[in-house]
Amino acid sequence: MSSDPPLSSQTPQAALVASNYRRAVDSVHDALERCGRPQDSVRIIGVTKYVDASLTRLLVAAGCRQLGESRPQSLWQKATELADLTGLEWHMIGHLQRNKVARTLPLIGWMHSLDSLRLAETLDAEAIKQGKRLRVLVEVNVTSESSKTGLSAGQVEPVIERLISCAGLEVSGLMAMSTAGVELAEARREFEAVRELRDALQLRLGTAVNLGELSMGMSDDYPAGIAAGATMIRLGSLLWTGLI
Ligand SMILES: *Cc1c(COP(=O)(O)O)cnc(C)c1O
Repeated sequence: MSSDPPLSSQTPQAALVASNYRRAVDSVHDALERCGRPQDSVRIIGVTKYVDASLTRLLVAAGCRQLGESRPQSLWQKATELADLTGLEWHMIGHLQRNKVARTLPLIGWMHSLDSLRLAETLDAEAIKQGKRLRVLVEVNVTSESSKTGLSAGQVEPVIERLISCAGLEVSGLMAMSTAGVELAEARREFEAVRELRDALQLRLGTAVNLGELSMGMSDDYPAGIAAGATMIRLGSLLWTGLI
């Protein structure tokens, strides 16, 4: 990991981004330690949807190289403006319309929010065309909120079975959101249901697939995600405290 710039050369804004990020990293490490998990077992994805490319650049300078966007146009714009930075990896974490796949695919390493077979087929065809293998997570909705995106638990297995045969896609796990506004204990129960679903699928599908990744947790509920076994958390507002 490259070293942080000396504090004295930073603008107040850069110092604030850096201290927010460092505080988040420390807090994630504490949460991991509390459940006896190794420090490097969770990837922090810095969600940049609230800010412009210049604040995003400050987050990268603070050490965050995994970035997430929920809208394709914002991802295109930031990825273009930050194209001079090396070692960045973009995660698409929101709904992706099929007519935006071709332009988004070259920019991203991960697609977290795969929620339909039609989208999977478009992504697969385009990935093959672009000579790329995209890592995808299937978004599952284990809550009873019908307004939420994601497949129901019962819909996940047939989709994953189909994904296994997609040469352009590497299905890598599940992504989920907890019910908005619930207590951490309830968020944890929901995330544990996602992990149990993953464990059951992994057992049934065996070596045909590696569902090692669980993208679970945002600013308000990441400790619940970590306790339930998340390997990726998607942090937005926590990183931008005092800046937005
Ligand atoms: C906005 C967003 C996040 C980050 O949410 P915060 O609560 O601001 O941390 C995470 N995941 C998805 C899918 C999002 O849209």
